[in-house]
Amino acid sequence: MTAALSEHVARPKPLSAYRRIVVKIGSSLLVDRKAGLKQEWLDSLGADIAALTAQGVEIMIVSSGAIALGRTVLGMEKGALRLEKSQAAAAVGQIALARAYSEVLGRHGLTAGQALLTLADTEERRRYLNARSTMTMLLKLKAVPVINENDTVATSEIRYGDNDRLAARVATMMGADLLVLLSDVDGLYTAPPDKDPAARFLPVVEAITPEIDAMAGAAASEMSRGGMRTKLEAGKMATAAGTSMIIASGARLHPLSAIDRGERATLFLASRHPVSAWKIWIHGHLEPAGRLFVDQGAVAALHSGRSLLAAGVRAVEGAFERGDTVAVIGPEGGEVARGLVAYDACDAVRIAGKKSGEIAAILGHEARAAMIHRDDLVVRSALMGMESG
Ligand code: GLU
Repeated sequence: MTAALSEHVARPKPLSAYRRIVVKIGSSLLVDRKAGLKQEWLDSLGADIAALTAQGVEIMIVSSGAIALGRTVLGMEKGALRLEKSQAAAAVGQIALARAYSEVLGRHGLTAGQALLTLADTEERRRYLNARSTMTMLLKLKAVPVINENDTVATSEIRYGDNDRLAARVATMMGADLLVLLSDVDGLYTAPPDKDPAARFLPVVEAITPEIDAMAGAAASEMSRGGMRTKLEAGKMATAAGTSMIIASGARLHPLSAIDRGERATLFLASRHPVSAWKIWIHGHLEPAGRLFVDQGAVAALHSGRSLLAAGVRAVEGAFERGDTVAVIGPEGGEVARGLVAYDACDAVRIAGKKSGEIAAILGHEARAAMIHRDDLVVRSALMGMESG
């Protein structure tokens, strides 16, 4: 164990030291098969969230429970449900879930905003950009996004199916610095603790190695889809992109302040050299749909980590659409960066070389500030790093 790591074990960061936290809530915490929604628990979660937001932390909730709640309300049989039945249960459960969050957060003066995502919303460029802008705006408006998979329309082939990985995808998409998975397990053990009494609890995991992978049993509880395996998958997605992850038990009131009080939880440290999966994805586009020719000022801005503004673009080439990958060409003719363009080619041509303040008047509507947002840009030097390593 390195010195830095043991220091981390001794003094874990309080949750209030994070900037943006995605909290994933497992179904079994929220829903009792007989009694329905566990209101007292939800109230205590709401109080924890309010305390963190009052300290300036942005919170996003990824909540399961739609299917579990819906089947309780509808009085459906026990055991596995056929797809249409679980979709119908989700339709009934989600509306109740959304209302519960809205009321609970409302009592603390917070506003909830619901987003139901499908796999395509995080995996297709245009939809990804849209989902991200909406959620960024919700946070800007101080609302708490409450997210779930859109189970009513997701079919078995095109779904996440478990909210652990959905939450990790949301966390990396939104650049969160922490993902907290609250469920009925309190952390990672060297072996599934219910099967192996010698299993040792691990407070900190520095990297999810094959050895760590082997510690997960396949088991999931009856109500939730994800077991330790999907939690480790989520951990890989998160940590590689620079998001730390905590697995903690939610089976007590005030589950978030319990983590700060030092109750058992496993912290998975974010990679020290995160490469966003997203940037690798952008880099992977071998044939950009167009080219933006930029001036020296823009090149300097890109190298210092800033977005590409329209003002620095001298010429536009190609028939691309918003969300396509384009190459950014410097004054010497070489490719300096690659990224996802925020405008269709016809609009890009109209605003090239124009100051940000002029753009809305030219296009006739409110417009995005950047031609390529810095989160969607891979600059040449970073590209080379990826190629060599
Ligand atoms: N999206 C599912 C639901 O809300 C839960 C998936 C999971 O348990 O991870 O019922």
